[in-house]
Amino acid sequence: MISSDAKVLLIYTGGTIGMVENIETGALEAFDFSHLKSNVPEMKRLRFSVDTYLFDPPIDSSEVNLHNWIAMAKVVENHYDKYDGFVILHGTDTMSYTASVLSFMFENLTKPVILTGSQLPIGKLRTDGKENLITALEIAADKYEDGRPVVPELCVYMQNLLMRGNRTTKINADNFSAFNSPNYAYLAEAGLNIKYHDKFILNPDYDKPVCFNYELDNNVAILKLFPGIQPSLVEAVLTMPGLRGVVLETFGSGNALRDYWFIDLLDTALKNGIVVVNVTQCLYGNVEMHRYGTGQHLERLGVVSGHDITTEAALTKLMSLLGNNKEYDDIRHLMSISLRGEMS
Ligand code: ASP
Repeated sequence: MISSDAKVLLIYTGGTIGMVENIETGALEAFDFSHLKSNVPEMKRLRFSVDTYLFDPPIDSSEVNLHNWIAMAKVVENHYDKYDGFVILHGTDTMSYTASVLSFMFENLTKPVILTGSQLPIGKLRTDGKENLITALEIAADKYEDGRPVVPELCVYMQNLLMRGNRTTKINADNFSAFNSPNYAYLAEAGLNIKYHDKFILNPDYDKPVCFNYELDNNVAILKLFPGIQPSLVEAVLTMPGLRGVVLETFGSGNALRDYWFIDLLDTALKNGIVVVNVTQCLYGNVEMHRYGTGQHLERLGVVSGHDITTEAALTKLMSLLGNNKEYDDIRHLMSISLRGEMS
């Protein structure tokens, strides 16, 4: 139920949703925020109030960095008490990384923070941006009669689907249905009505304060295996100066080659205190290292199972845990369990 006293903060960071076409070159260029508002007159008909916060200059999300993430989190923290919910307009390219990292930066979140964007600029006739924006705002404002928000989580809303942010991945560069949540149920589906799937939505402890963790360490890497991978490539990654954590993208249920050089390099990295997390290259399903000999050696060496976590969530979770200077064994343990509903 949306109450008329609800207040939502709309945070515009950049991305296609706020772009216009340069008529001379045909290129998409960032436009000022008033363009977005004037192109969505429907916003004036919402039954709750929406304030806006603009990132200047707007960011194409393929250029997003740790400073931008911290700045986004700060905007939410600085306005947390004043608003019932937040909608962050963000480019789709790295939206799942931002959604994941923010989910780890916000501890015990008790209000909706919804990321959305669009595949076509809001100024185009066939834009998907208007529906995404309006529905995301409605979800951010939705409360139960006792005043509790319906979705007190960090989410991504795109093309009728509300998904837990740290479960999402961008699956399509062209279609309006650009995101999916392969290993977790949708939190809501928007049709004629918005149908919430309550049993999949997190239920925070409203007596606990929300915490904002700003420490992130990007001394991390993603190492995607492929048949024929060269020792020099694996060595270059695993001996990167300052490296503290690796997301190892393996085959199937968490399997990898058993060549001596690979085992040696991995063993040395682990003995040097680098946290290695096993994430499958498959879109759906789980890492189960005990299933094949080609997975068992990883488990024996001390590689941590990422279960059904996405690469985006594994990487940003590592950044957050390493940034908070946890002990090596604590990080390994925390990487193997769910902190924000990011793994089953
Ligand atoms: N390059 C754009 C961005 O991610 C694409 C988009 O918004 O869909 O910022």
